[in-house]
Amino acid sequence: AASPAFPDCLIIYDSGLMQDIKNRDGLEQDLHQAIADRSLQIVYQPKVHSSDWSNAGVEALVRWRHPTRGEVSPGDFIPIAEASGLIVDLGMFVMAEAARQCAEWSRQGRLIGVSINVAAGQVARPDFADKVLEIIELNDCPPTLVTIEITETMAHSNNNRFVEQLHRLRAAGLKLAIDDFGIGYSNLAHLAELDFDALKMDRSLISKLETSSRTVEVCRAIVNLGKALGCKVVAEGVETAGQAAAASKLGCDEIQGYYVSAELNAADYIDWQDRVEATSLIRTVRDIFGE
Ligand code: C2E
Ligand code: MG
Ligand code: MG
Ligand code: MG
Repeated sequence: AASPAFPDCLIIYDSGLMQDIKNRDGLEQDLHQAIADRSLQIVYQPKVHSSDWSNAGVEALVRWRHPTRGEVSPGDFIPIAEASGLIVDLGMFVMAEAARQCAEWSRQGRLIGVSINVAAGQVARPDFADKVLEIIELNDCPPTLVTIEITETMAHSNNNRFVEQLHRLRAAGLKLAIDDFGIGYSNLAHLAELDFDALKMDRSLISKLETSSRTVEVCRAIVNLGKALGCKVVAEGVETAGQAAAASKLGCDEIQGYYVSAELNAADYIDWQDRVEATSLIRTVRDIFGE
């Protein structure tokens, strides 16, 4: 079609692309609404120590049940939230809900560390650390139980403001983890600039542990790097017993993935945790007294 605004141009419409853009706009509005209605949910995926499967805390993951489309995955709506700026409000919602839950558990005598994912667009704001600390204090959440997960690419951002915000959180007792390690743009020099507490090895590496001896060597190097920097190393996306054993043998401190458990709502997580503890207690008793 000839464009009235640009008469010399031929505009080619791609109906699929137009559909994508419209969907995206629709989703953006709906997401805006969902944040305003506080209708997003948070689920918790357990992590366990590789040595004895004892509790190593949980990762908070946001869930969105769209009124007509059903479950929309974070992989689809987080990028929309980032591009539209909605990530700031969404992020604060997740932070507040996770802090509230963590505080509730700790009042019940359950010290469960909660890891919270944050996006670049959140940390880039000069009031990020202030807002996070405010939410944590408001909810009476012990700061040392909170870990902020940033992605490798963000960790390598040259932006000094990022580093400043993260330093402030760490000074207040929060922990920092690098998420999805091994798939980003690996400027390893920048790893030295911030003290991290944990390094999470990406699922794409873990998934090849049983089949690729070269991947095993790459993972071994990552574990050694993490240890040398004083980080604990977490294996992400562990789906099989073989992957769990391989990760543990390499020295990964913690394991997370469907082999351990899928993400659960808060109540189901507590049931799960109690069951795991009961079985390991039974195992210990059997080890001591025999069958
Ligand atoms: P992530 O932080 O690396 O989270 C782990 C993702 O892997 C989660 O997907 C989880 O459901 C999935 N997963 C866990 N174990 C396994 C496994 O054994 N196999 C497989 N195939 N997948 C596994 P989810 O919840 O769909 O989230 C995807 C990504 O979206 C997250 O990756 C994170 O980057 C982002 N995200 C999720 N929630 C939030 C949030 O509240 N805020 C921000 N900024 N990003 C979030
Ligand atoms: Mg994460
Ligand atoms: Mg991850
Ligand atoms: Mg990942």
